[in-house]
Amino acid sequence: MTAFNEKFQRLTALDDRHIGRYLISQDPIEGKIRGAFKDELILKSNACGLDQAKRIARDYPGLSLYNLLDALAVTLQYHTSHSTRDYIMMGYFEAPNVIVLFEKNISKVEALLQGLSLDIDVKAIILAHELFHYLETTTELYTDSVTVRLFKIGPIERRSLMIAPGEIAGMAFAKALLNLDFNPAILNYAFMYSINETEAEKIYQSMMRAL
Ligand SMILES: [Zn+2]
Repeated sequence: MTAFNEKFQRLTALDDRHIGRYLISQDPIEGKIRGAFKDELILKSNACGLDQAKRIARDYPGLSLYNLLDALAVTLQYHTSHSTRDYIMMGYFEAPNVIVLFEKNISKVEALLQGLSLDIDVKAIILAHELFHYLETTTELYTDSVTVRLFKIGPIERRSLMIAPGEIAGMAFAKALLNLDFNPAILNYAFMYSINETEAEKIYQSMMRAL
């Protein structure tokens, strides 16, 4: 087994709470929140993603992911140009209803994962995750309400929206919708590995450490 395979396998064992800790540690305003609130955020964000996956399964029974996108009128676009954005992502959601996929980056990750015994459809995972971001724009969800107080001077208070809750919920949503037995956030490690092994090692270490 290669070092990559071994490490990826190890990451598949991390539970959603652990991965939630990692995702929060990546949020730019992580330093502004306390441990107990982090736990609450992780719990509620995971529950929010799971709830939405259940709602979708109930409202659109038996639809494949692609038929589901059609039913929700979400359009797929493939990113083809060679801008610097190619470098750093596999997909993103663009309001009101477009999911953009970076196929070349996705194929690199799929090639990397081929040596594993796991059957991982990277494209479906990215689609499902981005679909959650679409749902965030059409439904009032917990993840869109989490703000953190940055500072308060007398009557002036500045609050900022956190990124992590939507990311945690998007991962939980994709996991439930696609019936995965690992948290798909670990694909960030594989994706970075396909670009830069040293940077990937840093992601691996912080994922393992995030407790
Ligand atoms: Zn996301």
